[in-house]
Amino acid sequence: MFDGDFGNPASSSHVFGWEAEEHVENARVQLAELLHADPLEIVWTSGATESDNLALKGLADHYGAGHIVTSSYEHKAVLDTCKYLESKGFRVTYVVPDAAGLVQPSAVAAALEDDTFVVSVMHVNNEIGVVNDIGEIGRICRENQVFLHVDAAQSVGKVPLDVGAMNIDMLSISGHKIYGPKGIGALYVRRSGNIPLKAIIHGGGHERGMRSGTLATHQIVGIGVAASICSDELDREAPRLLQLRERLWSHLKQIPNVSLNGSETHRIPGLINVGFSGVDGEALLMALDDVAVSSGSACTSATVEPSYVLRAIGVEDSLAAASLRFTVGRFTTEEEIDFVGMRVADVVQTLRAQRDVAASI
Ligand SMILES: *Cc1c(COP(=O)(O)O)cnc(C)c1O
Repeated sequence: MFDGDFGNPASSSHVFGWEAEEHVENARVQLAELLHADPLEIVWTSGATESDNLALKGLADHYGAGHIVTSSYEHKAVLDTCKYLESKGFRVTYVVPDAAGLVQPSAVAAALEDDTFVVSVMHVNNEIGVVNDIGEIGRICRENQVFLHVDAAQSVGKVPLDVGAMNIDMLSISGHKIYGPKGIGALYVRRSGNIPLKAIIHGGGHERGMRSGTLATHQIVGIGVAASICSDELDREAPRLLQLRERLWSHLKQIPNVSLNGSETHRIPGLINVGFSGVDGEALLMALDDVAVSSGSACTSATVEPSYVLRAIGVEDSLAAASLRFTVGRFTTEEEIDFVGMRVADVVQTLRAQRDVAASI
């Protein structure tokens, strides 16, 4: 259906352009539906990293000076953008999440200053899977006339989202986190309320002037389809993933001295982050080379430092280094869960036994 479409969606003078534009606009409708947004509120970007940059730098550029509130366990796309803005003279408060890994709305309220122009808090943390109370944070922001940006790369398609009801002004989305293509994402930008967002990529004035450049038509079609599958599947998928996660946790918690990092209740269905005290994290990962788990997030795995996210929620460095992030997804089976549960129990037991032997020599 799509192979022959080579037109530029911005070329309005010929039929090839119209067809490409139709595909792009159809995808805009599909993604907007998942967020309960208006299609005109979707700005296509190259991914959530760019969306986070656009939201924060774009607003900062308008204000020129002032104060930003975020949290200390945001994705690097937000943290590094904030660091950059600090180097340009903006002030940033990094709210520390509580021991359950949640950014308390009251802590956000307490961090607001007279010249705070934006609050940026992630909906779901990518390493520990906890879900923040964005509705309440949104209410506080609206009441204080501060814009709210939400990095929702980990929540879109996994938990219900309603940008209007949650008073969200800008929201970052990533294609590959919803089973769509890599290199495509979007920033939801509320139309009402005159958000004075300035472009960070200048050019032909595409996307309401907020993001120039020829649209990645093929990827956009992909993210649109991915979004519509999420809309259709969310209600069925969430309980299924929850059941798989609980099955995994019931395996893992039989191992002595394991702990769940982050709230057990305020979490997305498909993710747990588990600490195995007394085990070397590197050795654990190496031994589990037949299981696709990770110690932190792919985004920061070039470093062997203990996870800054786990540090931020007060997990000790040694336990942080002995923690693994497990995700279950649309294609995970019960057999795989049982396999992983047994493999991890095995490996942890072996590593602990080796440690005890080494200690006794
Ligand atoms: C993956 C991720 C990003 C980055 O998304 P890209 O589309 O890969 O740029 C940003 N924030 C969070 C929370 C993520 O999980």
